[in-house]
Amino acid sequence: MLRLSELKLPLDHDEGALRDAVLDRLGIDDGDLQTIEIVKRSYDARKRGHILLIYQLDLGLNRAAERAVLARFARQPFIGPSPDTRYRFVALAPDGFPAPGQQRPVIVGFGPCGILAALLLAQMGFRPIVLERGQDVRKRTRNTWGLWRERKLNTESNVQFGEGGAGTFSDGKLYSQVKDRRHLGRKVLTEFVKAGAPEEILMVSKPHIGTFKLVKMVEAMRAEIIRLGGEIRFEHRVESIRRDAGSGQLTGLTVRHDDTVEEMDCRHVILAVGHSARDTFEMLLDRGVYI
Ligand SMILES: Cc1cc2nc3c(=O)[nH]c(=O)nc-3n(C[C@H](O)[C@H](O)[C@H](O)COP(=O)(O)OP(=O)(O)OC[C@H]3O[C@@H](n4cnc5c(N)ncnc54)[C@H](O)[C@@H]3O)c2cc1C
Repeated sequence: MLRLSELKLPLDHDEGALRDAVLDRLGIDDGDLQTIEIVKRSYDARKRGHILLIYQLDLGLNRAAERAVLARFARQPFIGPSPDTRYRFVALAPDGFPAPGQQRPVIVGFGPCGILAALLLAQMGFRPIVLERGQDVRKRTRNTWGLWRERKLNTESNVQFGEGGAGTFSDGKLYSQVKDRRHLGRKVLTEFVKAGAPEEILMVSKPHIGTFKLVKMVEAMRAEIIRLGGEIRFEHRVESIRRDAGSGQLTGLTVRHDDTVEEMDCRHVILAVGHSARDTFEMLLDRGVYI
């Protein structure tokens, strides 16, 4: 595969123009070009009357043509071999996990961070347990409208707390300024597409899911985590953590569900509590956890 960047075409170009522009730029015959995949599409709108689309493409060429192009454009920064963007799991759970004596990992919070952590751990076979203080996204939607329309605040289920986390009721802008040299963002976007996001988020330069699509996507990701052996416990608030007095190693969590308080043993916890859970931050600080 070859990656070709900075290919510019007019905003209103017709379908065949992209292929013609590739053939022209690389100086190859039509028969040499097997596939064109759009990796990224952005805009150059510096000249008002002459807006351009800028493409980054992955091109499948026959082997002889690919070799010739790479040799001919060896000094060209805009043409080179395509990078390997496949996501690789850092580990996989052993068969039959958890064996006696092994504990499932726990994720506290089911916002974007907790959802992706749970999904990945589930895909790796670790059957994570998620503890989320708020309600599932449908009940949470009702609670959130309750605040906006009737000024009734549910302190555990609102625009900040509950399945999907903060921003669930936003329009889902997905771009950031973070440099992504290991292509990790592509894994996230791929999971979003599987959960129902528009496919074009994989290639537009400023991806955007669209208002009110997030609720269904969050439900789809929850279903996938459960299908893979994970578990989501709503209305479960982590109130405290236990640590070994000597080593400081985490040994368990204190979890409240309604009027019941449960002591849960666990050694591996991902805290994905966002930036609004001040009670949780205070508790962690009290227990000597550096934030
Ligand atoms: C109105 C709004 C619109 C936004 N729009 C966008 C946007 O378009 N694009 C964008 O990129 N970002 C947007 N953001 C920001 C984005 O939502 C946050 O950056 C993101 O949600 C952070 O994810 P997180 O998983 O780290 O935390 P959160 O989403 O805050 O999730 C934390 C979760 O942890 C749970 N929790 C907290 N404490 C406990 C506890 N003790 N026990 C159990 N569960 C607990 C909470 O209930 C919550 O569900 C928006 C935010 C808001 C508020």
